[in-house]
Amino acid sequence: MNYVKITADQCKSCGVCVQTCPNHCLAIGSELNALGYQSAVFIGEDRCVACGLCFYVCPEPGAITVFKNEQPRKETETEKGVSL
Ligand code: SF4
Ligand code: SF4
Repeated sequence: MNYVKITADQCKSCGVCVQTCPNHCLAIGSELNALGYQSAVFIGEDRCVACGLCFYVCPEPGAITVFKNEQPRKETETEKGVSL
C-alpha cells in the first residue's frame, strides 16, 4: 500500500498539503504538536497514489515522507522521542 508519514513536530499546520492532495488523503488534525500547531494527519490509506505532491508543496523539509508499495511500520520508542 501507499502511505504518507507526517512527522507531527515538524508541521506548522499551513494546510498546503491538505489543499494540494488530489485524493483528499490529508487533513488537519486536532492534536497539538510540540510547537503548539495542529499538525496534518494522513487519512488516505485506501486512496493515496504516492504521487508526492504533498511532499513537494510542503514548506517544512522534514514534515512529510511518502512511501510507495510499503507497509506502514510502527515507530520505535526512539523515533517517538521517548528516552528509555
Ligand atoms: S502522495 Fe499524492 S495522493 Fe498521497 S497523500 Fe500525498 S498528494 Fe495525496
Ligand atoms: S504542508 Fe507541511 S507544514 Fe503545511 S500542513 Fe502539510 S505537513 Fe504541515
